[in-house]
Amino acid sequence: MMLIKTVEELKNVLFQINCGGKSVGFVPTMGALHEGHLSLMKRARKENQVTICSIFVNPTQFNNADDLKHYPRSLEKDIAFVQNYMDFIFAPSVEEVYAVPATEQYHFGDLETVMEGSARPSHFNGVAIIVKRLFDWIQPDRAYFGEKDFQQIAIIKSLVKQFNLPIQIVPCPIVRDENGLALSSRNMRLSETERQIAANIYRVLKESTAIKTKQVSAIQKFVADELAKFDIFHLEYYEIVNADTLHPIQNLDDAPSVVGCIAIYAGEVRLIDNIRYK
Ligand code: AMP
Repeated sequence: MMLIKTVEELKNVLFQINCGGKSVGFVPTMGALHEGHLSLMKRARKENQVTICSIFVNPTQFNNADDLKHYPRSLEKDIAFVQNYMDFIFAPSVEEVYAVPATEQYHFGDLETVMEGSARPSHFNGVAIIVKRLFDWIQPDRAYFGEKDFQQIAIIKSLVKQFNLPIQIVPCPIVRDENGLALSSRNMRLSETERQIAANIYRVLKESTAIKTKQVSAIQKFVADELAKFDIFHLEYYEIVNADTLHPIQNLDDAPSVVGCIAIYAGEVRLIDNIRYK
């Protein structure tokens, strides 16, 4: 495993790899790595000759300065955690990534007006800025993204399409704690009690797939009411949408595949998760 800090070093290393015609699998992350990230890396390892991950807490995708300040960082631990799976770790500084200031403006139409797009204005533009820069520098054959960030995958697929990038986007299933809580770097900020209560998010989502109604408003009400039983939760949204277009629907029969996406505060910590209805 080799740690790379600069874009120049990255380009030099990748030039040699690309000349050798080897396939490159790329896993972008913001660090504080856990088994969820590792699942993406294992998949990349299996499907590519060369693997690279990035570890970079990207300021342009945070619309809340406090959230950015408190985002967990643990580079040395991260390096030890992934060294058996990654050939290269690209961990640049903010100055390195944004030597050219971030003035890019990306547009994703309806995909960015719902859920995370409306709750976190400018978030997806920041995601697109960093992912596009990383894609341009690394030029991977495949890039791996977790379905925990369901809307992000739709945004990245749109980015690849808009710029006609020869990169295969590989969605990977959500990895959960044994109690059902979706693994997230942000879970580190939960107290032990909060972490236990946070398991109810997935429990309630799962239960909501079994209730006997196809009315989206009734399912949303069930989820909101169940989660409101816990003082620590503050529900930001629970949207049930067409999984392909992310358009909100009224009835589960309105779309061929349907996903419910939640953003919820457990105490101070904002968590997201999602579940398939079909
Ligand atoms: P992050 O470091 O949170 O930006 O995440 C980097 C990548 O790991 C993203 O594609 C996430 O969707 C993915 N990821 C994070 N948590 C999980 C999880 N619990 N299961 C699967 N993928 C995950």
